[in-house]
Amino acid sequence: NSILNVNHVTKTYRSGGLFKRNRRITHAVNDVSFTVPQGGTIGIVGESGSGKSTLARCIIKLLNIDEGQIEFDNVNIADLKGKTLRQYSRNIQMVFQDPYASLNPRKKVGEQVAIGPQLYGMTKQSAMEKAKVLFKLVGLDSEAVHRYPHEFSGGQRQRIGLARALALEPKILVADEPVSALDVSVQEQVLQLLAELREKLGLTLIFITHDLRVAAQICDSIIVMKNGNIVEQGLASQVFTKP
Ligand code: ADP
Ligand code: ADP
Repeated sequence: NSILNVNHVTKTYRSGGLFKRNRRITHAVNDVSFTVPQGGTIGIVGESGSGKSTLARCIIKLLNIDEGQIEFDNVNIADLKGKTLRQYSRNIQMVFQDPYASLNPRKKVGEQVAIGPQLYGMTKQSAMEKAKVLFKLVGLDSEAVHRYPHEFSGGQRQRIGLARALALEPKILVADEPVSALDVSVQEQVLQLLAELREKLGLTLIFITHDLRVAAQICDSIIVMKNGNIVEQGLASQVFTKP
């Protein structure tokens, strides 16, 4: 019952440069393996530069890996194309540290949440209705769909980011530092919401953070990365009780 299998994955960046001396090879992700059970929450923890985001980008297939396999429902995602790739993209959605960066400042937030469903064939009217339902689901007023991004606080914008990701009814949600830009009290509320949504929707969560305290709070298992390698791996309770 594992939904995602990451098997000996390696991703290397070869940075260009007109001159040979400027060319660099970075082993961003090095022989990384783990499995994510359906409905579970795995934490990918590590300091800045440890390879967390690269790994996330490989999982959502924004980057192609150099070695290894990533399997979703036992299918190698490298083999997906056309329709099956579209299905995969839909099934794995991402939320970011700062949803403000990806929200269009000039467009009503509800319309932005409705874009995804429309890309997948929903009418604008149904997609807007869906946006209202999603706003309620993430703890916002359904009438807030008519507002613009700057009218919301950081925590509320993270809720909008969640609504947008959930609009496509994904099986997996990849959250990249979703609470790192928020005040501690607001962090608690958003983590609480994520845990609720996970239960209610049967979501599988991949939670990326540099913050051990936050990871301990929401994850059942953890991998700790350093310089592209997994340096520790196990149940959250085990990883965090080590001296
Ligand atoms: P984290 O998310 O843990 O901060 P990253 O995955 O962003 O780590 O980075 C891992 C390593 O890969 C770092 O050394 C970083 O400098 C390097 N890196 C990240 N993105 C690129 C890129 N597009 N080109 C070259 N090197 C990169
Ligand atoms: P293509 O037409 O190339 O198959 P799409 O344009 O349908 O791809 O979508 C590209 C990706 O962006 C998909 O993974 C889709 O799920 C995602 N996406 C598009 N709009 C949204 C949105 N509003 N919220 C979340 N994800 C979105």
